[in-house]
Amino acid sequence: MRRRLVVANWKMHGSLDSAQALLDGLVSCIGDSAVEVAVCPPFVHVPLAVSVTTDSAIGVGGQTCSEYDSGAYTGEVAAAMLADIGCDRVILGHSERRQYFAETNDQVALKAQAVRRAGLVPVLCVGETLEQREQGRAEEVVAEQLQALLAEPLQASDVIAYEPVWAIGTGKTASPEQAQQMHAFIRQFLRQHSAAEAEAIRLLYGGSVKAANAAELFAQQDIDGALVGGASLDATEFAAIIAAAQ
Ligand code: PEP
Repeated sequence: MRRRLVVANWKMHGSLDSAQALLDGLVSCIGDSAVEVAVCPPFVHVPLAVSVTTDSAIGVGGQTCSEYDSGAYTGEVAAAMLADIGCDRVILGHSERRQYFAETNDQVALKAQAVRRAGLVPVLCVGETLEQREQGRAEEVVAEQLQALLAEPLQASDVIAYEPVWAIGTGKTASPEQAQQMHAFIRQFLRQHSAAEAEAIRLLYGGSVKAANAAELFAQQDIDGALVGGASLDATEFAAIIAAAQ
């Protein structure tokens, strides 16, 4: 039985004050939960998040990291540094990283290896653009992204987030059927390559998830939770998404 997981991606939002208020809100809204919950703030707000969530069940993660362990890579942050300050996971290959920072499939695979070396869990994002979906290439694109990740065997603790690019921050959600279809495709792909891990790896859906659409997404067989952007910046809304996952 896969434990449901809901991860917040705060992207580059917030100040120290607003992060504190959001974290306080989350800790008071989310008590003991059967659902695993994590927040991924900007790097500079990670220590605050770790400190505020210390006595709660909420985990903390990074939004990206370097593929290198250390060295002359100005501006980069190593996975081990995130582990050092209390992170337990790292989002990798988010479509905004791929689109604006030219991250490639191979780079995402190297980052996943660096994250595992540091003892952290990679949350691996895959997903097609609208153009690719309209060309009927959605599964092909996702398969290519997954194939690159197999440079090192996937682990049962790894998390994969299917995030159709056309649904991120646009208010357009994939229908539950569209999302389930791709999740089933991903699970089947995993079965062919890492049979033992395929049933354990949690598949999150991401793309304009909110309290109003969460329950119907979570009702799908292969949707094990969500990666939530915009709606995670509101403690009440995020708590309602978590409640829908119970
Ligand atoms: C995301 O950033 O991973 C995301 C899914 O964003 P949103 O929920 O705002 O679409």
